[in-house]
Amino acid sequence: MKKIPPVDLARQYSLISEETENAVLKVLNSGYYVGGAAVIDFEQDFAKYTQVKHCIACNSGTDALYLALRALNIGAGDEVITSTFTFIATAEAVSMTGAKPVFIDIDCNTFNLDPTQIEKAITPRTKAIIPVHLFGQPVNMSQVMEIATANGLYVIEDCAQATGAEWNGQKVGSIGHIGCFSFFPTKNLGACGDGGAVTTNDSAIALSVKMLREHGSSVRYRHDVMGINSRLDALQAAILQVKLRYLDQWNQQRGKIAKRYQELLSPLSNLKLPQALAGGQHVWNQYTIMISNRDQVREKLQEMGVISMVYYPLPLHLQPVYQDLGYTVGQLPYSEQASHEVLSLPMFPDLTIEEQQQVVYYLKDCLS
Ligand SMILES: *Cc1c(COP(=O)(O)O)cnc(C)c1O
Repeated sequence: MKKIPPVDLARQYSLISEETENAVLKVLNSGYYVGGAAVIDFEQDFAKYTQVKHCIACNSGTDALYLALRALNIGAGDEVITSTFTFIATAEAVSMTGAKPVFIDIDCNTFNLDPTQIEKAITPRTKAIIPVHLFGQPVNMSQVMEIATANGLYVIEDCAQATGAEWNGQKVGSIGHIGCFSFFPTKNLGACGDGGAVTTNDSAIALSVKMLREHGSSVRYRHDVMGINSRLDALQAAILQVKLRYLDQWNQQRGKIAKRYQELLSPLSNLKLPQALAGGQHVWNQYTIMISNRDQVREKLQEMGVISMVYYPLPLHLQPVYQDLGYTVGQLPYSEQASHEVLSLPMFPDLTIEEQQQVVYYLKDCLS
């Protein structure tokens, strides 16, 4: 029995290898490897795709978040509200600036932060909210923007898992003050290495991010603020430019796969299927179900050759690194329950119907 992987990047690459290799060779022959035309071209394409005025490419999604926070002058003494049920990078970027992450619980139906929990977490020190469009599902941005506007807060969208997703017809990354993207290989738009981008409609923020990503410098060898080195390689930019042309098609394929899982799995009991919010365009970076005996099921699936994943086994408020913040077990209950029960099934645009049927067949077996 052939194994069914959670993602298969080589399969996708084989479909676009010729175009990608031509783009890579062009960069290799150009002699410009960091910055240059390939990066600027990609930034323009990505800004257009995301429906924003500015895109600033950088080295990773983590850096994108850090640069966004720094561009808003967020640092020591400030608080930033975000979901506890996300990848560490969301909060890590906040901590790296010296600010404090404030964690709130998720909505049990979407895995995204529950907008009704935001207001209770606001203090005089709160500067920003980071909604995370987890697993490809956009957060209800209408609610988030309304609360942010009423309280004078910035909104930084963590779009790492949701490139191409939309809320009310607007692309994620174009709704808040800043959007942050990751091009880690397994994201919906993935490079062949690390990469990230910041998007914004605000020219002053764009200038600031640009400066911070290049050692706090806008004029060579003159440094006005303390920055970092976070540039996107020209090779990655060229690869991303090719892949961006396929993104909508790949996201549609993910949508079809999600729909098929929904149809095949809905007759089963003892599991909860993911729900897509009305008003949103979900791009299914993950197809994540909930099962009470998750670890058992996962192990059995693995024996049968189906590799599933757990995102995330421990919410951020209970992470050892954040012990000093003083959160306790039971404080953010939906996130804690999710961390015990979530299971992400194989999901990538080229997953075949046969493979999906196998996944469902084995899952039925595990549950019976
Ligand atoms: C992947 C991811 C990041 C970080 O992106 P990197 O490019 O790996 O640094 C941030 N937030 C979320 C929600 C992510 O999934």
